[in-house]
Amino acid sequence: MLDELKTDIHAELPTFESLGLPEPLLRAVREAGYERPMAVQAACLAPAREGRDLVVQSRTGSGKTAAFALPILHRIRYEDRRPQVLVLAPTRELALQVHGEFERLGRYAGLQSVCIYGGTRFGEQIDRLKAGVHVVVGTPGRVLDHYRRGNFRTDAVQAIILDEADEMLSAGFFEDIRKVFDMLTGLKQVLLFSATLPMNLENLIKRHMHDPVRVDLSGEQVSVDRIANIAYPVDTTGARIRTLVAIIEAEDPVAAIIFCNTRQETEVVAKYLRRRGYDAEYLNSDLSQTAREEVMARIKAGRLRLLVATDIAARGIDISLLPCVLHYDLPSDAQQYIHRTGRTGRVDRSGRAISMVSVRDLQALKRIEWTYGIRLTPAETPTREETLKMLADRRIREFKERLDAGAVIPEEFVTIAREILTDPEAEGLVSLLVDAYLSGPITTTNGVPDGQAQDRPPRPPRSEGHADSDRSGGGGGRGRGRGPRRPGGRG
Ligand code: AMP
Repeated sequence: MLDELKTDIHAELPTFESLGLPEPLLRAVREAGYERPMAVQAACLAPAREGRDLVVQSRTGSGKTAAFALPILHRIRYEDRRPQVLVLAPTRELALQVHGEFERLGRYAGLQSVCIYGGTRFGEQIDRLKAGVHVVVGTPGRVLDHYRRGNFRTDAVQAIILDEADEMLSAGFFEDIRKVFDMLTGLKQVLLFSATLPMNLENLIKRHMHDPVRVDLSGEQVSVDRIANIAYPVDTTGARIRTLVAIIEAEDPVAAIIFCNTRQETEVVAKYLRRRGYDAEYLNSDLSQTAREEVMARIKAGRLRLLVATDIAARGIDISLLPCVLHYDLPSDAQQYIHRTGRTGRVDRSGRAISMVSVRDLQALKRIEWTYGIRLTPAETPTREETLKMLADRRIREFKERLDAGAVIPEEFVTIAREILTDPEAEGLVSLLVDAYLSGPITTTNGVPDGQAQDRPPRPPRSEGHADSDRSGGGGGRGRGRGPRRPGGRG
């Protein structure tokens, strides 16, 4: 199942070949280990190669450098060794990084390039410029210096790329950038990459760009560094809800929001979890405003562990301590994944965004990964046996903690316990007690919950079996019609 997921996930995405890159670039891309274009690359390649202007909002780490380097490398006339392209970056480190990517991707195309930045001697940079280069990468101040000294001839420069343009402006380069535009008299193409588009950048766009193609892949709330995006495979032959329990046990989050796609599902899931002794509530638009607020207040205050919700909980609400978001169903809209996931890892806290993925969800998963340039890390879903073992261990730990805390137990109960332990039906009897302990007051024999059980989901009629009688079967029918199923198999 895991392998199937790994191979299927990217099956229908575009390839570098299908985007029409020439062989020398394809070879370099292969050597760089890039298997498929990332979203920003797929979005930028065609318009940039056609010579269009681009305004791209995208994060660092999204693959944006190759998104401008590849189409630019495709457009260069290699027989002409005058500078044809200028790339500006706010810092020396970024300039070096961008230059490295150009060198790496352009090596088989015959690229000559130079990186010019302040704080070092001019000599070597001048030598490179004199020897003839196709691409100049640099920081604004030093680029202007070389131009003024006559080292950098700009008459053949047709394209300029501004990388992290908002950073350049906030570093005080506005005036320098304006001067750079003035010195590029033969400019035909402007590519601008920026995380944000402040007003002064919009002014620059209006002034220097012509009908730009706008690409927004900023995915505001997803920060890949802070949030671990994880996929647990769901076997379609089993019950999804059991996989959920397996994941909760494996991850053991202090608190989590579990997102479902329908109101009905939130209710079913929350009730199932409560029935298994989890501290869970549901939140959907069927609830009154007061009830919703109450539930939200509880999860915010750390007084509720699992909130099973529809997308009404996805936007805007700040639960700054929430360590985990679980997508029980993947949203069909990629943006919604971002909004939901944005509930975790807020304000510098790291979070986990966990998706339950069956083969039916692959389409939605691909869209999310592709749109935002993120990759979900596959995890292994514990088997049923492993889950049951984890559950048992945890419950026993909890019971022992109560005992160690000095719980006062009447003598009569101890006597009952002793009798039970020597009874041939000990396993069934103890199971019944655990069930009663975890799910509240015991029902009457005809299956009607007693009056105090309002906060609890109604117990299933006894004839439907014991705790594991959910739809998936799995041997749950053994005790059918005969009262609680006996774990010892003595039904
Ligand atoms: P960037 O956003 O340009 O800083 O790129 C982030 C990282 O992604 C860099 O380490 C690149 O080498 C890498 N990268 C760029 N394009 C791809 C791709 N198509 N597949 C895999 N990795 C890539």
